[in-house]
Amino acid sequence: MQFVSYLDAVKMGEETLEKAGIVDAKLDAKYLFESMPGHDKNFLLLYGRRQMDADQLKEYEALLEKRASHIPLQHILGYTEFMGLRFNVNEHVLCPRQDTETLVELAQKCLKPGMRVLDMCTGSGCILISLLALGCKGVCEPGSFIGVASDVSEEALAVAKENAKQNHVDIQFLQGDLFASLTQLPAEERRFDLIVSNPPYIPTAGVWALMPEVRDHEPKIALDGDGDGLKFYRLICEQAPGYLKTGGKLIVEIGYDQAEAVCALFTEYGFLDVVCHKDLAGNDRVVEGHL
Ligand code: GLN
Repeated sequence: MQFVSYLDAVKMGEETLEKAGIVDAKLDAKYLFESMPGHDKNFLLLYGRRQMDADQLKEYEALLEKRASHIPLQHILGYTEFMGLRFNVNEHVLCPRQDTETLVELAQKCLKPGMRVLDMCTGSGCILISLLALGCKGVCEPGSFIGVASDVSEEALAVAKENAKQNHVDIQFLQGDLFASLTQLPAEERRFDLIVSNPPYIPTAGVWALMPEVRDHEPKIALDGDGDGLKFYRLICEQAPGYLKTGGKLIVEIGYDQAEAVCALFTEYGFLDVVCHKDLAGNDRVVEGHL
């Protein structure tokens, strides 16, 4: 058999992924290599010039083939990192994105012990789980407020429940279409201090223009915000006031070009001090307001 070192294999991996048009070919080839049993972060540095055995090479090639066919890296690995925490993902939830960390960091600043927080359209659960697991340094201990998460998808809730368990946080999960799920709560528990949401916000016609990783492998139900992408903001802005305490806050993630429209909806439905915040890439990403 031809001598193939671990380093050769990773180089070949990079080339395979580059040829397939994978954006982060180099990184992904490395992550896939490191995901194999026994390959930690130092493995290549220590043993890179040794021969990779044929079975391992086959296994690595199988991973590369999946990635080359544009299956998202996170789906192949089965998990991703968000806010420094680990979240399981599959085809039923949106993969947590760095953009959404902007929302979490803003929400952290509003946390106070004992408050009630609702995550509407929770998906993988990454927003509320991060808030509960991390709290807000010096102000709100992890786990010292009450978290409720709602999603229309049973399959997404199964993933979110698993993620809550793995990150050792307690959340009350509700299944249902937006605020309709809250009828499962006693009337006195239907008011919140903070509602956070990353709803589907891609205009239907735009879904087809997304990267194949997103378009073909992430759940349409978590992406498609209807004709103009604003359907869920309309519903949330209209209904959230009925579920917020006086002074309660609403914080939502938005698409880069939706700031004006979403701020207008917040104002139309009575929210005050409406502000849009940018993400790390400098794009408009989060709108907040309070009653
Ligand atoms: N930001 C995501 C994307 O660009 C969409 C997230 C959403 O619709 N909530 O793919």
